[in-house]
Amino acid sequence: MNWKPDIKGLIEPFTALKYLFKRPATITYPDVKRETPAGYRGFHVNDQVKCIGCGICEDICMNVAIDMVTPEEIKNPKNTSGLIPRVDYGRCCWCSLCTDVCPTKSLKLTPEYVLVTEDPNDFLYTVPEPKGDIQ
Ligand code: SF4
Ligand code: SF4
Repeated sequence: MNWKPDIKGLIEPFTALKYLFKRPATITYPDVKRETPAGYRGFHVNDQVKCIGCGICEDICMNVAIDMVTPEEIKNPKNTSGLIPRVDYGRCCWCSLCTDVCPTKSLKLTPEYVLVTEDPNDFLYTVPEPKGDIQ
């Protein structure tokens, strides 16, 4: 049998070495975070000082991702139901219908989208208060 070494096949793995000297094509997350575009639909926030507990956000959600829960404290005296929304991110598709129909505009989506956790129950949470101005 006439054996011929596969020179090309032997050299080819070393061509990967050239990438050691090239700039990476990816960003070094989490040191560098990509800016979200304007209007990005990330996690919800709810300004409880404005929320009237009407439950329209729950009614409109086609994914049944919102249920109304009792908060520790009612911050709006006009919240007659005594309830605020809780979102299940295992169901939410970020369609934003709930924020569109919110009569007080207390419920909004933010550019935040990263939630790393070992507990799946963390994806079901009472919508937090906004930390700053959300458009
Ligand atoms: S977030 Fe808006 S729609 Fe939902 S209960 Fe509060 S006021 Fe009503
Ligand atoms: S964004 Fe859409 S799917 Fe998510 S909670 Fe609101 S209405 Fe439901």
